[in-house]
Amino acid sequence: MGGDIYNILIKDYTEKQWGRECRELPPFIIKRLPVRFTFDNNYFNDTYQGIPIGGYNTLIEKMLSQADIKLGVDYFEDKEHYDSLATTTVYTGAIDQYYDYCFGKLEYRTLRFDTQKIECSNYQGNAGVNFTSSSVPYTRVIEHKHFEFGNQPHTVITKEYSSEWSEGCEPYYPINDEKNNLLYQKYKKLTENEGRVIFGGRLAQYQYFDMHHIIEQVLELF
Ligand SMILES: Cc1cc2nc3c(=O)[nH]c(=O)nc-3n(C[C@H](O)[C@H](O)[C@H](O)COP(=O)(O)OP(=O)(O)OC[C@H]3O[C@@H](n4cnc5c(N)ncnc54)[C@H](O)[C@@H]3O)c2cc1C
Repeated sequence: MGGDIYNILIKDYTEKQWGRECRELPPFIIKRLPVRFTFDNNYFNDTYQGIPIGGYNTLIEKMLSQADIKLGVDYFEDKEHYDSLATTTVYTGAIDQYYDYCFGKLEYRTLRFDTQKIECSNYQGNAGVNFTSSSVPYTRVIEHKHFEFGNQPHTVITKEYSSEWSEGCEPYYPINDEKNNLLYQKYKKLTENEGRVIFGGRLAQYQYFDMHHIIEQVLELF
């Protein structure tokens, strides 16, 4: 895409997001960004883009309204009991944790969210603004009301700070460099012996997915 655009838009932002020099990162990260010669300022080329009305929580609450759900429990605290409830388990947690980190820990990036209510009706005019320069410590600012064209007198924004994952943080983005991918392959090999467990999702497959990828996978699996 050329040196100027790379330096202004890509380099600092990517290094801030991943905490690594671009040269150390796998090429699929850059390949996710479409390059095109049009005035279409959407991020991706998809025909339909958006979020469910009311957000994903509303959608998921409706889908699960008739299901037996237990929230706030750790599967590993009573694995035997949960396994006994069904003939098949869909496991969506971290794959290395499933095997008690027997080959070592996979690495992730995590995020810190700094959310503020601001007494103005419009902070940035857009749901998401990315800050590409290394002189700004956060990677992006989300202004939630713009996802649903809200017209409240105030606004709520969230600044996202990226950092290396450590125990107790939420693992968000798998770091799919060579070292971690090799480690993941070792864990994946073990899953071949698990007849009754389906390993699905971003943590169990150690891979970044967008929502539509996950929804498609689940529909196909079902
Ligand atoms: C910051 C961020 C921004 C994103 N933005 C977008 C976006 O704009 N557009 C888009 O399309 N996608 C986006 N995504 C991706 C999207 O969130 C994921 O694709 C999707 O959530 C993946 O679904 P999943 O089921 O694989 O994993 P998750 O949604 O993470 O679900 C896994 C579930 O397993 C549970 N779990 C894990 N371990 C255990 C355990 N031991 N016991 C019990 N439960 C456990 C977790 O609590 C969690 O509920 C974003 C992701 C992140 C992190």
